Amino acid sequence: MLVLEEGPTRSRFRLNQAHTCRYHMQEAGSMVALGPTPFLVAAGRGIGGGSLINSALCFRTPDEVLRSWEGLLGDDRYGPEKLGPVFRWLEESLRIGPAHNDLVAGVHNLKVVEGVRKLGLRGGLANRNTPACIGCGACNFGCPSNGKASVNLNLLPEACKHGARIQADTKVTELLLEGDRVVGVRGRMHDPDTGEAGGWLSARAERVVLSCGAIGTPRLLHHSGVAKRMEGVGEGLHVHPGSVVLCRYPEPVWMWKGATQGSWFESDELPGVLPHAFIAPPEVVALLVAPHLGGMKSSMEVLDHIGGVLALVSDKGEGTVGAYPDGRAKISYDFADEDVDRMKESMVLCAQVQLEAGATELYGVAHGMGAHSDLDSFATAMRSRDIRDFFLYSSHPMSSVRMGRALDAGGKALGVEGLWVADASVFPTSLGVNPQLSTMAVATLIGQGMR
Ligand SMILES: Cc1cc2nc3c(=O)[nH]c(=O)nc-3n(C[C@H](O)[C@H](O)[C@H](O)COP(=O)(O)OP(=O)(O)OC[C@H]3O[C@@H](n4cnc5c(N)ncnc54)[C@H](O)[C@@H]3O)c2cc1C
Ligand code: SF4
Repeated sequence: MLVLEEGPTRSRFRLNQAHTCRYHMQEAGSMVALGPTPFLVAAGRGIGGGSLINSALCFRTPDEVLRSWEGLLGDDRYGPEKLGPVFRWLEESLRIGPAHNDLVAGVHNLKVVEGVRKLGLRGGLANRNTPACIGCGACNFGCPSNGKASVNLNLLPEACKHGARIQADTKVTELLLEGDRVVGVRGRMHDPDTGEAGGWLSARAERVVLSCGAIGTPRLLHHSGVAKRMEGVGEGLHVHPGSVVLCRYPEPVWMWKGATQGSWFESDELPGVLPHAFIAPPEVVALLVAPHLGGMKSSMEVLDHIGGVLALVSDKGEGTVGAYPDGRAKISYDFADEDVDRMKESMVLCAQVQLEAGATELYGVAHGMGAHSDLDSFATAMRSRDIRDFFLYSSHPMSSVRMGRALDAGGKALGVEGLWVADASVFPTSLGVNPQLSTMAVATLIGQGMR
């Protein structure tokens, strides 16, 4: 088996957003979904993909989502009973669990947990694939201490023990077709630092599996012209839209110390909404609160006191992924009204949790929100926002080459032979939880079916 990867052979982790974008984000972190509110769509790059730079949160696919897939696909392998052992195997292989102690958890996560407990919500410290985490809060730049069990440290080396070879610094640009059969791929190597193009590489294979992610896979299928032989490639993109509520605590909480985004909660009142602790680079947080605090200088002075909670929404809204002639992704997304309503209510819940945890001031990340010290005035301002007021971002693209539409229930392409997809593209619906564990579980199932 040959694995081709666009990103670098050796991880290039540094505490610097520009550096991370350059080496470890697809299209250098510049992918934008167009629509009523354009927003950035992030996807990882490198041997290990998104797991290199993600926040390491691990949630199983909710049972009700799996039940709906079982029905939609007419395949009981997607039921919670059958998929349970796959999740257990992954949880053991990646040594998934919550922060080992309060120091690793960090004050900011513990504040969120305090608010959650006071309100009697379900939640707490989040399960993460970080068995040796020291709580440095740098997951989104890549783990400097190998405390995170990203898949370059476990599943990929395991594949190599069984004969897989990995060729990095190679971007696949074409699928080789003979009649209606995909018989291989063609790609171009490049220098990881300068980006300078090198030689072409062609590989023939009996079976080709695309795992370029929910943007990368439809982008490649469109760019190589294979999408037109299939149904629905790039349609039905879900993104888990969501936003964030920042707040100010009387004491320092050091958002950047402790397990990255290491706490979560949920409420029966808001099904399909999953809030967790927020993190962004300090310069971004300073910019976001500066308008409420009289400018950048004063926002920098209280930066250690700023906390945040973001919420993702299991979306009914859908988007598309195509390719521009130069091969970059062409993305659009339309918001569903009911998602926007749930997003606003989730912001009110996030505000409530932070007030219970002792926050004295709340800042919604949307135009015209202002600063609020009580829940009622925050909720009134939030509920009167329009989707165009929000500052949004997604790192959870999925469902863009779906099983049940473009693929059969085993991930095999419909319309061409010799081609499979095994990544976040294949989900028949939105998940409502962070996608990495579901991606690994479904990819495992697809792999087992190919034996
Ligand atoms: C900043 C960030 C934080 C996140 N936090 C979490 C979290 O805490 N928990 C969670 O569950 N999920 C999280 N996610 C999402 C999660 O990482 C993704 O859902 C998951 O990685 C998707 O896996 P995938 O296999 O579909 O694609 P990816 O992990 O994106 O892998 C695709 C790979 O294909 C490569 N590739 C793409 N195109 C080509 C090409 N043409 N040729 C060769 N190689 C190509 C890419 O370089 C990449 O390495 C986060 C994502 C990001 C970006
Ligand atoms: S928070 Fe933990 S897992 Fe994340 S980068 Fe730091 S040590 Fe690694």
